Amino acid sequence: MLRMKRFEDEPAFKYSYYAVLKRGERVDVRCPTCGGHAYIEYRNRELRWKCSECYAQAVKEEEYEYKAKGYCSVCERWFNVEVTNEKMKSHSLVHITCPHCGAGNQAKLHKQAVGRGYYLDIRRGRDPIFDLELYFLDYIRGKQIWAVNREHLNYLIAYVSADLRVKYGGSMIKTASHSIPAYIKEAKNREAVTRILSKMQMQSNAR
Ligand SMILES: [Zn+2]
Ligand SMILES: [Zn+2]
Repeated sequence: MLRMKRFEDEPAFKYSYYAVLKRGERVDVRCPTCGGHAYIEYRNRELRWKCSECYAQAVKEEEYEYKAKGYCSVCERWFNVEVTNEKMKSHSLVHITCPHCGAGNQAKLHKQAVGRGYYLDIRRGRDPIFDLELYFLDYIRGKQIWAVNREHLNYLIAYVSADLRVKYGGSMIKTASHSIPAYIKEAKNREAVTRILSKMQMQSNAR
């Protein structure tokens, strides 16, 4: 008799790029310098990647944008103008030309962190910020199979090899498996996919 493997799904977007990084976990990537293992992490408001095997690394600092906002004193219309002049950025009040009527205005300058595009996620097996290739990446019939890190890899293995799938929370809410491509879920590919994922897992254990 076959032993049934029970699989419990996890919350949706758990393994999305930003969800992983914001939890303080790492995204495993391939070092563009030596081809070895590297990782991306988010710390102290900085996103960085670092190689575990050579000394290559890079940082992407938080970006800010500066907006002068207010109601025009002449035409009384609302304006929201981006300030790009470096000298002006250090002031709390700036002189702005109203975009509607051209009148000179004194306006308050607002500094705000640029939303780093939380809609960005892994594309074609690469991270969306540094464009680095994922470390856990392979192909099945020309299509990519990848995991953002070891935990995600374990999750995929459990998902694909499970016979019985239990939805997270027992309900029909969106779960992490929602974002797994169909060709990975297909029963006919199950064995091949499990083999590829397990191979990745073994290689990373040997590291
Ligand atoms: Zn390296
Ligand atoms: Zn105006």
